Amino acid sequence: TTMTYKTPARTAKSAQYFTNARKIIPSGVNSTARAVWSGWDPYPLFVDHGTGSRLTDVDGNEYIDYLLGLGPMILGHRPPKVTKAVVDFIEKRGTVFALPVADELTLSNKIINAIPAVEQVRLCNTGTEAVLYAVRLARAYTGRKKLVRFEGMYHGFSDGVYWSKHPGLNVAGPDKAPMPIPQGPGMPAHLADSLIILPWNDVDALREAFAREGQDIAAVITEAVMCNTGCILPEPGYLEAVREITAKNGALLICDEVITGFRLSLAGAQGYYGLEPDLSTYAKGLGGGFPVAALGGRKDVMALVADGTVSMAGTYSANGIAVSAANAALDELAAPGLYDGLYERCQQLYDGLEKIIADNKVDAYVTGLGPVLQVWFADQPIRNYRDAARYARHDLFRIWWEEMLERGVLFHPGAFENLFVSFAHSKDDIAQTLSVAAEAMRAVKA
Ligand code: PLP
Repeated sequence: TTMTYKTPARTAKSAQYFTNARKIIPSGVNSTARAVWSGWDPYPLFVDHGTGSRLTDVDGNEYIDYLLGLGPMILGHRPPKVTKAVVDFIEKRGTVFALPVADELTLSNKIINAIPAVEQVRLCNTGTEAVLYAVRLARAYTGRKKLVRFEGMYHGFSDGVYWSKHPGLNVAGPDKAPMPIPQGPGMPAHLADSLIILPWNDVDALREAFAREGQDIAAVITEAVMCNTGCILPEPGYLEAVREITAKNGALLICDEVITGFRLSLAGAQGYYGLEPDLSTYAKGLGGGFPVAALGGRKDVMALVADGTVSMAGTYSANGIAVSAANAALDELAAPGLYDGLYERCQQLYDGLEKIIADNKVDAYVTGLGPVLQVWFADQPIRNYRDAARYARHDLFRIWWEEMLERGVLFHPGAFENLFVSFAHSKDDIAQTLSVAAEAMRAVKA
């Protein structure tokens, strides 16, 4: 079904750019998350620029931005110190050398000091790469083949993990034993043999998988907060159980912190929950908006990289832009009390949204943890992908999204995406968001 914007004339230039883009760029965009079928129907907004918490589109509309590049802009758009560090590096030193720079040591030390479970770290460029390396390393370390991953999570677009996660709602197999579904044709079907897909937040399903084929399981990969099917929190005890079951069975636990890293705390979701994974992957929050990623973890596991058994290559890995951006971003993020202030402002947002929902008697609720959240329009609790596929009301979410956008609040149009809050979002931004939300929710109710 093709939708229209509430007031298409407001975004006429975006529409025109998109018409032209489709002729030369397949789908008109350069990432699936911007495609019409991911919610940007009938066309995505084309951006002119961002400043702090604000984003301005090519038609000159200004929005309070909760899209935030899907996570990286944790310091807001154009964070001055990060920009300056990158410009300095490029102007004075260069970009890529195929040799190390001393700044890599500084950055690696910052990451290691921030995150207890990270004893050593390797840098790369994107979350997809970091995950690909983590899974390969886990297989090499354990000598086992299978990867447990959870239905509805997203761990990047590489063949080995881009399964059972779709812009649509496809599910297959019983609730307790989902069948692996590749993202689409072109992905080798035999890779299904190396995957076990499980429902998240379900300790029994994990125990049963290990009882059945634990000797083949190299690793379990999970986000500690599920941020790729809306936002779903781990139930009390769940993460502890995952840690205990993997350790007991000699499988590695890979915590995918691409969204949660440097966002939920300086030590990510694992810092917040006190989780100690064997390997962790970072990207978005690490670089203040620049492409940089990291794989960190146990020294004895990393030993296979140290001696060259497992190769991690990359022309652009630890390039000057990435390293200088991340060094500057981490200095900013290490300021004492910074996250406390952010959580306070987020609480203001959660409380305000809850009140607006209650006042309007809409079947909806807010889930999230600090600066990552989503509003579920559902009359049942959602604790995993199947619940979301069954109960989430995409029609109501669309109205909500459109009414918010119309009034100058931007976030992703997909109900299975998130709202991100940055350190640049002020109390006033939140207050303005809430006054807009009160009007938007009345429209949802009507
Ligand atoms: N892992 C998670 C949890 C993600 O959310 C994403 C991207 O959204 C990725 C991995 C892939 O990261 P990238 O887009 O940098 O390749």
